[in-house]
Formats: sequence, structure tokens, C-alpha cells
Amino acid sequence: MDQEVGEQMGDQVKQIDVAGDVPKAKKCTVIGGSGFLGQYMVEELLARGYAVNVFDIRQGFDNPQVQFFLGDLCSQQDLSPALKGVSTVFHCASPPPFSDNKELFYRVNYIGTKNVIETCKEAGVQKLILTSSASVIFEGVDIRNGTEDLPYATTPIDYYTETKILQEKAVLSANDPESNFLTVAIRPHGIFGPRDPQLVPILIEAARNGKMKFVIGNGENLVDFTFVENVVHGHILAAEHLAQDAALCGKAFHITNDEPIPFWTFLSRILTGLNYEAPKYHIPYWVAYYLALLLSLLVTLLSPILQLRPTFTPMRVALAGTFHYYSCERAKKAMGYQPLVTLDEAMERTVQSFRHLCRVE
Ligand code: NAD
Repeated sequence: MDQEVGEQMGDQVKQIDVAGDVPKAKKCTVIGGSGFLGQYMVEELLARGYAVNVFDIRQGFDNPQVQFFLGDLCSQQDLSPALKGVSTVFHCASPPPFSDNKELFYRVNYIGTKNVIETCKEAGVQKLILTSSASVIFEGVDIRNGTEDLPYATTPIDYYTETKILQEKAVLSANDPESNFLTVAIRPHGIFGPRDPQLVPILIEAARNGKMKFVIGNGENLVDFTFVENVVHGHILAAEHLAQDAALCGKAFHITNDEPIPFWTFLSRILTGLNYEAPKYHIPYWVAYYLALLLSLLVTLLSPILQLRPTFTPMRVALAGTFHYYSCERAKKAMGYQPLVTLDEAMERTVQSFRHLCRVE
């Protein structure tokens, strides 16, 4: 394990036997279990009677029912102890998408995932469920009700997504029913909910800085935002339906709320729910796109003398101004998936949970 990761971990590793008499089929490890999605995964798995190990570079919460293993998923030596005696591994670890560190994305998402696969096989793990992303097929142009049959993006929206593609391919091609190692990839889109450290806090920060005044395009582009508990449900269903000869083996599945919503309506509802003004001025999509393109060219030209990192990029414009919503018919058919929480309820619960960020008049 490298020094940077060691420092993040501290030296405390809990080794309490909390699995008790749980059968092996219900023993699992959540890699990235300290993260936003990971913590929800852990809570729901415990509620459904699983014994849960968490493997992460940091201990994000305390729970005496959970056995924590701290380490870097790129290290077999770190990871092996966390996989001993478990049948199922959920891999939902990743560096944050907005990081600038290409080397880190490649090392953790691709090389690290190959290590996860090898370590699972050596430990006798039978099922590996990867958290991928629906963005692996998005190239910045409209996708309406996209199915999993669409090809991987040849020009992905960013380097993070490029490594999510490599990661997904590695996991799906490792599916090997003959040696009883089964894999599946879950592709969520726009995960949100209470305790989300990104979407709502970043949105509110932008509103406070006066940056949420413009709607890019006509504001009608539909997008999927998926409540975190529905994403968790999709993962657990996938694990429980994964069996030799099952249709799931080696396949990817979109998991969404199945209620696409105009991108700007979603943001506006969160903003007004927290007493901020919704964006009201429209800027035509192509004007915004070419302005962002021009800015990117300027930044590239100036890069020998000035290191700038603009947030107004053509890909961000595309994310905010195009249709990108995905069909989850395949998950409905193969594993009986249905969202458990509606978008209305999910948004209400999310807004309530962020009351502390409310604008005070
Ligand atoms: P998060 O940042 O909250 O959690 C990721 C966790 O991974 C963190 O706890 C982090 O410490 C851990 N981690 C990072 N590097 C590690 C390493 N080298 N070894 C061990 N642990 C490491 O992210 P999240 O939003 O919960 O996302 C979970 C997964 O869902 C990721 O794979 C992400 O790509 C995917 N995803 C997220 C979204 C979204 O909208 N948040 C959408 C689609 C897909």
C-alpha cells in the first residue's frame, strides 16, 4: 500500500467476527463501502440479513455489525483478507469523477479492478457485481431510452468514463461459469439522495455564487436521475439472480428511476425546494456549446504559460443540454427490477435532508 493511502487509512483495522452463523451465500464484501452509494449498500444488505465486510481506503462510518478492512484495492495483499469466506463482492469504489488525476483513474478503475477480479478468484468468491455507469455509452449527443445494446462510447465524455469502460469490459469478460465465477455490471445514472456529498452541495454552492442563472437549450431535454436506494436494490437483485446459466451472467444492466425528467426541471426543483431561485434565462444550446469550445481552445493555447481548469467545457454543456435517458427493460425482465421509491418521494426526501443548506432571507 502506498504512503498516501496509508495516511488516509490510519492504522486502525477492526477484526471482530460479526458474521456469526450467516450462511456463506449471504456473506459479502462491499469494496468502496465507505462511499455514498457504498454506505447505502451496507445498510440495505444488513437489513436483508447479509453479513457484511467493508473494504475501503478510509472508514467512513461506524457500525459494530460491519467488519472493516482498510486498504487500497490495487493491492492484493490489502484486499485478500477482506474477501476470505465471502461468496459475493460488490465493487463500488472509484476516485471522484471530477478529479484531474488521469493516472489515479487508470490505476484504481482499471488496474485495480483487474486486481479485484484476480483476488476474488483466488479467494473463491463466486459473484462479482460491479458498479459501472450508464455514461459508458454517452458521447455528448442525444440518447433517448438507450438500451444496453448500444456500443461503448468511442469518444467518452471524460477520462473517468474512459476508465469506467475499461473496467466494465474487464469485469464482464471475466465471467466464467465453468469455474463458478459469475460477473455482472450495474449501470446507474445520476445517483442522488440524502447524504450525497456531490450533486446537491455542488448545486447549492453554484447557486450561492450566482452561477445558476442560465438554462442551456430549451430546458426540455430528459435525463435520468436515480434515487440511491433504487440503485442499491438493483445491485442486490443482480447478486441474487446471478446463477450459472442465468441470463445475467457477463451482462450490463441499466438501473434508473424509470422516470426521466427534464434536466433543468430536476435542478430547479432542488433549488426552489431549498429557497434558491431557479435558472430563468435561456441560452441556445449551440451558442453555449461553441462558447465552451472556444474557451477550451483558448485554455489549450495558453497552457504553456497558464494552467487553467475551466468548468464551462463542451462536455459539461452536452451533459446539461442533451437528452440522455436509458431503458431498464433488461433489468426488469432478467431480475424483476422495479424502482422502490418514486422520483417525487425521492426528491422530497432529498430536499428535506439538505434543509441545513436552505437560503435564509
Ligand atoms: P464515492 O466517492 O462516494 O465512493 C467511492 C468510495 O471508493 C470512497 O469511499 C473511496 O474512499 C473508495 N475508494 C476510492 N479509491 C479506492 C481505492 N484505491 N481502494 C479502496 N477504496 C477506494 O462515490 P459514489 O458516488 O458512491 O460512487 C460509487 C460508484 O458508483 C463508483 O464506481 C461510481 O463510478 C459509480 N457511479 C456513480 C454515479 C453517481 O452519480 N454518484 C453515477 C454512475 C456511477
